[in-house]
Amino acid sequence: MPSPNCTPIEVARPAPRRTRQARVVWGRRVVTVGGDAPVRVQSMTNTDTEDAIATAIQVKELALAGSELVRITVNTPEAAAQVPYIREQLDRMGIDVPLIGDFHYNGHRLLTEHPDCAQALSKYRINPGNVGKGAKRDTQFGQMIEAALKWDKPVRIGVNWGSLDQELLAGLMDDNARRPEPWDARQVMYEALVTSAMASAARAVAMGMDPAQVILSCKVSGVQDLIAVYRELASRGDHPLHLGLTEAGMATRGTVASSVALAILLQEGIGDTIRVSLTPQPGEARTQEVVVASEILQALGLRAFVPSVTACPGCGRTTSTVFQELAKQIDDHLRAQMPLWRSQYPGVEKLKVAVMGCIVNGPGESKHADIGISLPGTGEAPAAPVYIDGEKAMTLRGEHIAAEFQQIVARYIEQRFGRRQP
Ligand code: SF4
Repeated sequence: MPSPNCTPIEVARPAPRRTRQARVVWGRRVVTVGGDAPVRVQSMTNTDTEDAIATAIQVKELALAGSELVRITVNTPEAAAQVPYIREQLDRMGIDVPLIGDFHYNGHRLLTEHPDCAQALSKYRINPGNVGKGAKRDTQFGQMIEAALKWDKPVRIGVNWGSLDQELLAGLMDDNARRPEPWDARQVMYEALVTSAMASAARAVAMGMDPAQVILSCKVSGVQDLIAVYRELASRGDHPLHLGLTEAGMATRGTVASSVALAILLQEGIGDTIRVSLTPQPGEARTQEVVVASEILQALGLRAFVPSVTACPGCGRTTSTVFQELAKQIDDHLRAQMPLWRSQYPGVEKLKVAVMGCIVNGPGESKHADIGISLPGTGEAPAAPVYIDGEKAMTLRGEHIAAEFQQIVARYIEQRFGRRQP
């Protein structure tokens, strides 16, 4: 047997982030973004903002699912007029999640003509590609920054390659044509994205914005493009960065593409807030994008949001679906309880549960979890050993293994995470 290496294998950890820290505030709720703050989960509604009740309900759902910042479209005077009412509805429901206004084309007018809207929002998203053309661009961008200064709000300069400043791009293309060895068109596009964000941020700072309160993003829809652009963006400054793959797509594709892109950058210490821009499938809850974003952070060990359920994939040793059903039941139950448990059982999000299909890896994996069960595989004795804190605690038998295990998990949570009565 070869002798082991004499130096230990290095433990993998995400690189530290090196951005300044922004403060996004509503009332007494302060969400810090950047620096040593946790990477934040952000989401966006898809309701018509003019429908204040529907929007407030969806913001509440997103917040309860774990979104720490929620963005809403503010696209018309009617929508801007509803923003204070949406805020009021949320406050009445006890939902203090900060609201971000997403502005394009007319944000300068809406923020100036609707002061109640400007005040009710906690952050403004400005797309430098959509603030106006020619001489109007600087004036209208300036009006939005003036609103941010007046109401003491942070901004996000959110560049998107679907709405990139075409005058800037054309100028960079011309410069490129004069190079002895012109860059690839894709590299010129990258440069345009990063330049647009950095130049707009510099203008906002020159007008008096605190650099920490200027958050940047450069969203693209290709994984390798996103990685290239954000590495460059991060190297050019220390503004907090919002990270997301735009138009990620539906279901599995959107989830996988977002996960791989964000994971690589987060591991490099790049990204202070994240959003997963999933296209909801018909009938799918909008909150799915929050679930995926949270799972990305939890999988990387950056945050803990819900207890994790480790389950094996099953194989030829498991001919029944009992363990898959139990794993799903436990996972659904733990996730559904979290809005209540966050305050009732502090720390419960770090709980680890294992639901395994047979004795090959079942007992071992169960011992690594806080609480685990190893169900009987085909041909194994009809018994399911349960492990608690690494020790075998009992063996379940019979028809009601699933229900009994759920009760055992509930008791464990109560004992370990329940607040002691004085
Ligand atoms: S633990 Fe057992 S059932 Fe699950 S994948 Fe491994 S061998 Fe198959």
